[in-house]
Amino acid sequence: GSGLRVRDLVVRYDDGGAGVTTAVAGVSLDVAPGEVVALLGPSGCGKSSLLRAVAGLEPPAAGTVSWDGADLADVPVHRRGFGLMFQEGQLFAHRDVAHNVAYGLQMAGVPRGERTRRVADGLRAVGLDGYGRRAVSTLSGGEQQRVALARALAPAPQLLLLDEPLSALDRALRERLAADVRSTLVATGTTALFVTHDHDEAFTVADRVAVMSAGRILRIDTPARLWRRP
Ligand code: ADP
Ligand code: ADP
Repeated sequence: GSGLRVRDLVVRYDDGGAGVTTAVAGVSLDVAPGEVVALLGPSGCGKSSLLRAVAGLEPPAAGTVSWDGADLADVPVHRRGFGLMFQEGQLFAHRDVAHNVAYGLQMAGVPRGERTRRVADGLRAVGLDGYGRRAVSTLSGGEQQRVALARALAPAPQLLLLDEPLSALDRALRERLAADVRSTLVATGTTALFVTHDHDEAFTVADRVAVMSAGRILRIDTPARLWRRP
């Protein structure tokens, strides 16, 4: 496959009377299979809107999103085969860790035996081996985000979309988890688009970083090359 291809994408919000905000002002972007790309930029620059349009949660005003050469314009969110992970509020607090990780697999109709195996694999991949029966409410914030990552990865999505997945955590934990997220994505060969406003996080997680400002991508390159060229 050829991965994700975004061309001349525009996302607008009509505030009904107050005016129209252009959140994404013509973005083109390719993400190759197995590649991790970070969208980096300040709050309000359009990162989340771009991610949501790729997910199918926001209808583009113009432009195209395609996967492996197929236009996704008429493909609804749940048919795209993409995984989603957000900043917080995504776990079922009253279910144990295994049920939370199994959720997407259950939705996809994966049979019980395979489900159990993939839940165990997922927990191992994020360093939470043996946590299956723990109540989510007894876990730390960092552990909960690991569970959320295991859940997003369990159905083996062809593309994983992460929107500020570490932003609710403190700085030290964020740095550690960013490195863990990177190694988990690389080990599972997952193609991913990772939204963050944190420079260090983007450079740790991604193969390439897309620097965004005012709805556009200003530059996109490897961390090493962006680092050398101010
Ligand atoms: P970022 O993720 O970089 O913080 P967003 O994509 O959330 O940026 O926002 C880009 C712009 O679109 C901002 O001006 C924001 O206020 C506006 N915006 C985002 N979501 C909505 C919405 N649902 N309705 C109206 N405006 C929105
Ligand atoms: P249910 O009857 O609702 O499937 P279970 O508690 O037996 O309830 O399992 C919940 C989900 O988690 C199932 O998909 C199961 O395959 C998986 N699962 C259960 N226990 C474990 C475990 N210890 N390790 C990994 N996966 C598990």
